[in-house]
Amino acid sequence: MRLSRYFMPTLKETPAEAQIASHRLMLRAGMIRQSSAGIYSWLPLGFRVLKKIERIVREEQDAIGCQEMLMPTIQPADLWRESDRYDDYGPEMLRIRDRHDREMLYGPTNEEQITDIFRGAVRSYRDLPQLLYHIQWKFRDEVRPRFGVMRGREFLMKDAYSFDLDRAGAQRSYNKMFVSYLRTFERMGLKAIPMRAESGPIGGDMSHEFVILANTGESEIACHRDFLDMGWALSDIDLDGDLQPIVDAYTAKYAATDEERDPETERALGDDLVTARGIEVGHIFYFGTKYSKAMGAAVNGPDGEDITVEMGSYGIGVSRLVGAVIEACHDDAGIVWPVPVAPFQVGLLNLKPDDPACTAACEDLYATLNGNGVEALYDDRPERAGVKFADMDLIGVPWQVIVGPRGLQQGVVEVKDRGTGERGEQSIESALAMLTG
Ligand code: ATP
Ligand code: MG
Repeated sequence: MRLSRYFMPTLKETPAEAQIASHRLMLRAGMIRQSSAGIYSWLPLGFRVLKKIERIVREEQDAIGCQEMLMPTIQPADLWRESDRYDDYGPEMLRIRDRHDREMLYGPTNEEQITDIFRGAVRSYRDLPQLLYHIQWKFRDEVRPRFGVMRGREFLMKDAYSFDLDRAGAQRSYNKMFVSYLRTFERMGLKAIPMRAESGPIGGDMSHEFVILANTGESEIACHRDFLDMGWALSDIDLDGDLQPIVDAYTAKYAATDEERDPETERALGDDLVTARGIEVGHIFYFGTKYSKAMGAAVNGPDGEDITVEMGSYGIGVSRLVGAVIEACHDDAGIVWPVPVAPFQVGLLNLKPDDPACTAACEDLYATLNGNGVEALYDDRPERAGVKFADMDLIGVPWQVIVGPRGLQQGVVEVKDRGTGERGEQSIESALAMLTG
């Protein structure tokens, strides 16, 4: 992508309404623009990151055999009357009437909808288990939308639902999601700690929130110090095998969100206790037959009897993650993207576009990077070097290749690692070898 042609309306000034780094940086880098309170447009740069995050989420859901589908954003109110949540949900639900005066709503979540689909389609215990997900926009009319995409009213969520015959099956589905979430966040360069969360109707310990520690987080959490430097080496796991030992290992030590904190355990932990603020990026939840019972989702068992299915639901805040990654990865100059979610891998800075040698070298580099499938953002604008450095640091592309006339005379370019700030001169060939390798 040529920056001279790219729609990336950066801001010099810090927008007054933005209270936290990620919101500030997303506005300044031209990633999003507010439409109304808690509702945003995603501009090209922001959209690229959103898609990268979505893709990692999708790949890790697919890896555990969860099947992607797509449910609508608009749902009929009657479904929610069946589960008794239509009134309970209160003012957070955006209620709509269509031209025939039918009551509809913009979905804040999809338990009712998926249960309805399931009950209409699945008859036999032989068809279980089922794991289904979609990635779809949600609407919750939050009292205080704030912090940009972190607490929006309209936001993108991955929500998955499991259907099992019994509690043991539900536990297996839960474990798959648990491990899938660890892998998902790890791939994004994040340390998300699974924390015991409010368990809802059936109690038990099958409810975890995945939380990233950050000063700007909205939840108060507490955990064992060991979580801070626990290695997350999960890429080689057999996802079809028994995952209980992994789940046990990650839940053996104390980690709890606000409502679940236990003063006695915390006192006993002494110096091993860490209290901090955190951002909830995911939530997995087993709720048994809460919806299946209310809505009549049952299958025929082996002896012809009706078995009400056991369900769980599993959310990831896809759009919130864009902000959360920035909260975890930025410095004074701007964003520092982890490579897997970076909008571009390489920023190519032409320091003197009116110098034919400089431009020829850049065009060559740009073509080679593109040809090798490396996503490059080429700053070919007739701007001062200082402006180019500042913009590239702000948008946080992992590698910068800086091409100036003086270096070129020696046959070298400068390569800067945005994360460490290290910069060094290299021949064009060795820079390319490194970046395309
Ligand atoms: P919170 O406690 O932050 O309000 P929640 O518990 O209501 O979230 P869930 O219903 O568990 O959220 O939704 C699943 C995921 O969706 C959350 O873990 C979070 O990452 C994301 N999410 C929830 N509400 C919002 C929102 N208003 N804006 C952006 N993302 C959200
Ligand atoms: Mg939650």
